[in-house]
Amino acid sequence: MKSHARVVVIGGGVVGCSVLYHLTKFGWTDVVLVERSELTSGSTWHAAGGMHTINGDPNVAKLQKYTVELYKEIQDYSGQDIGLHMTSGMMLASTKDRFDWMKSILAKGRYMGLDAHLLTPKEAHELMPLLDPDQFVGAVFDPVEGHLDPYGTTHAYAKSAKKNGADIYLHTKVEDLVQREDGSWRVITNKGEIIAEHVVNCGGLWAREVGRMVGLELPVLAMEHMYLITEDMPEVIEFNQTRGKELMHCVDFDGEIYLRQERNGMLMGTYEKACRPWSPLNTPWDFGHELLDEDIERITPELEVGFRHFPAFNKAGIKKIINGPFTFSPDGNPLVGPVRGMTNYWSACAVMAGFSQGGGVGLALANWMIHGDPGFDVFAMDVSRYGDFATLGYTNAKVRENYSRRFSIRYPNEELPAGRPLLTTPIYDKLKAAGAVFGASYGLEAPLWFAPEGVEDQFSWRRSTDFETVGAEARAVRDSVGLMETSGFAKYAVKGEGAEAWLDQLLTCRMPAAGRMTLAPMLKDDGKLIGDFTLAKLGEGGFLLIGSGIAEDYHMRWFETHLPKDGSVTLEALNLGLVGLAIAGPKARDVLQKLTHQDLSTAAFPFMTVRKMDLGMAPAIVGRVSYTGDLGYEIWMKPQYQRYLYDLIMEAGAEFDIKLFGLRALNALRLEKSYGSWSREYRPLYGPLEAGLERFVAVGKGADFIGKAAVKAERESGGELRLRTFILEAKDADVIGDEPIYLDGAVRGWVTSGGYAHAAGVSVAVGYVPKEIADIEAGWSIELLGEVLAARLQPEPLFDATGAKMRG
Ligand SMILES: Cc1cc2nc3c(=O)[nH]c(=O)nc-3n(C[C@H](O)[C@H](O)[C@H](O)COP(=O)(O)OP(=O)(O)OC[C@H]3O[C@@H](n4cnc5c(N)ncnc54)[C@H](O)[C@@H]3O)c2cc1C
Repeated sequence: MKSHARVVVIGGGVVGCSVLYHLTKFGWTDVVLVERSELTSGSTWHAAGGMHTINGDPNVAKLQKYTVELYKEIQDYSGQDIGLHMTSGMMLASTKDRFDWMKSILAKGRYMGLDAHLLTPKEAHELMPLLDPDQFVGAVFDPVEGHLDPYGTTHAYAKSAKKNGADIYLHTKVEDLVQREDGSWRVITNKGEIIAEHVVNCGGLWAREVGRMVGLELPVLAMEHMYLITEDMPEVIEFNQTRGKELMHCVDFDGEIYLRQERNGMLMGTYEKACRPWSPLNTPWDFGHELLDEDIERITPELEVGFRHFPAFNKAGIKKIINGPFTFSPDGNPLVGPVRGMTNYWSACAVMAGFSQGGGVGLALANWMIHGDPGFDVFAMDVSRYGDFATLGYTNAKVRENYSRRFSIRYPNEELPAGRPLLTTPIYDKLKAAGAVFGASYGLEAPLWFAPEGVEDQFSWRRSTDFETVGAEARAVRDSVGLMETSGFAKYAVKGEGAEAWLDQLLTCRMPAAGRMTLAPMLKDDGKLIGDFTLAKLGEGGFLLIGSGIAEDYHMRWFETHLPKDGSVTLEALNLGLVGLAIAGPKARDVLQKLTHQDLSTAAFPFMTVRKMDLGMAPAIVGRVSYTGDLGYEIWMKPQYQRYLYDLIMEAGAEFDIKLFGLRALNALRLEKSYGSWSREYRPLYGPLEAGLERFVAVGKGADFIGKAAVKAERESGGELRLRTFILEAKDADVIGDEPIYLDGAVRGWVTSGGYAHAAGVSVAVGYVPKEIADIEAGWSIELLGEVLAARLQPEPLFDATGAKMRG
């Protein structure tokens, strides 16, 4: 065994072997994979081996596409047969709602060049005669689907990696990981020790245990999963003989089942509602190539639907039932990337679809380790999307929910209930009493809208029960004044003698003077956005940086990596140690002025001013800024003052008929200003010029900020894309995100977000298109739920285009 290696990959399942292969492919060949048993000894060996490209998240879909396209390469390179069957596949819908959902998935795939299309039940039956067409309303055909041999595929990755110089040690168990002073790791195994610069947790079923070796509790849990294999079926044999090909894959969403041909019979699996976690606390080290007890009763309700939808199964004998465990994160996506607070400890676990995603995970991780960047937008699978709130108990609740809903529709206005409420702010019950309907974001309950008594969200792809009320909330802001809670933003305190110099080279903006705020984009070396913040200089109090709540751990990882080592800067994520309220609308100043002796006139307290002030008896930080685009104030306070301040403001606002508003109204309002938001318009895919943020990028400032060279190059070349706002001739539904944008009938761009702009009374879509066509006025359309609707470019903000109201 080697005593030193650049990387030790822990775990020889499909994911570990893919990571190993990609590292060697990109030139890191001093790499080792350590496997406690034989390769595939976790969940990999009993997988059904199905793979596909389509995914609700286009960024994940890209990595799935890469994975599927990689198989031929590793088979050829390694000489190992992977048993590849590219059969194509279809997704089936039994209800109109489901079909609407499929159309939206199909539309999302359109700008990625996915070659999928809709089928009538009759056409579906023609392609897949085992199904009963009367049970379905339609289907989506996907040519790029199939299955493979899990064992052969894992070995193909492993052999390819070995051919490139990697070592693989079987029957070698990592028992502990100890970090050395220089940041390298002592990888302590039952066969001796390896010193490694980097370690990668590809522990699969044991990923939690490999996490615990370094004090980490990764949000990952294994679930039991069953599929059955039938005896030979005459219908299958006949199809093969007459058509000269295999039956294709099917996912029957309303039956919650998937199926494919297996030899001369069929394989049918299900994500059952009555699901069961496996080894919820610890994974036994002696578990290996054994299966779990079958429990046909648990999956009977789903199988009954399956057998009705595919009647040929009723006559088929069942040859065997496989029950095996595999792992999930709370949202079902993998946990990939560097772990915050650790040097060179990488995660590549919770990969629930190893044969659709394993290649993409290996590619992204190898890029990240070698080049410092995954090379794609992988936030959907970034390990940093979970913070401290994702405890063992939370993970258990969410994973069970996710598993049992694997094939369920999630409507755009649907908030999932498991593991909630977890984090709440002091005014939670006051807001609830006022009718707040909450959504959970990064574990925190945040008000979405305030429902009248007896009204609740009816989940739908189309405008729903909240439409009128959200409209009234938005109009109240524009007409008078509204109050919303803003505690869900991430807040960071940056202090110390080196704080200003550090922020100056971290952020692209000019540093604000004391008592002032500015918008502050943050870039990666390649000039793409990795954050967008509001930066406030509080004078003696240092700086307050406010950003996206869901990205707190993601940004903290970036900040901490770039923090000076000399202790001259202190950084703290304040989380709920600082909570917020915001008021906005033409009467906002009148309300606030009642609570303070300080002069709030524009002359004394202009737009983008920030100041500590007492409101009534409570100390607060008040900034004159509003994401609604209106005259407004953000008010930050310690949590113990929030109830008092809430009551105080509501009382002061009563004479102006102050209304509570939630995140949905805020979305409607910010669309009228064409303001972007993190994870939608602003992502590591886009440069600041493309995203319309160039005025906050001070290339002329002295500091050599991260991404400066790249941003200069972007200015010279003009980048490739432009963010644009469109008005859509929508009927009863508005865009959600990822819909294709057409110019003269050809797909040219994609929607990042949108919705109904209630105060303006129009349906808005925001999205990216190539810069060459970005200012063409006519010829636009956007596909929404299968219909291509006319759209027109909206060159100016719909509300307060000159900014006079906001600044006045
Ligand atoms: C019944 C069933 C059907 C499935 N069907 C499909 C499907 O059709 N398509 C699909 O894409 N996916 C499917 N899956 C899921 C798929 O199996 C997983 O996505 C995949 O196996 C994950 O691979 P992995 O490498 O992350 O984990 P694992 O396969 O669990 O591998 C982890 C490896 O790490 C090793 N290890 C752990 N700790 C240590 C240590 N301390 N020292 C050394 N070695 C260690 C283990 O021995 C193991 O070999 C299915 C799963 C099941 C159970």
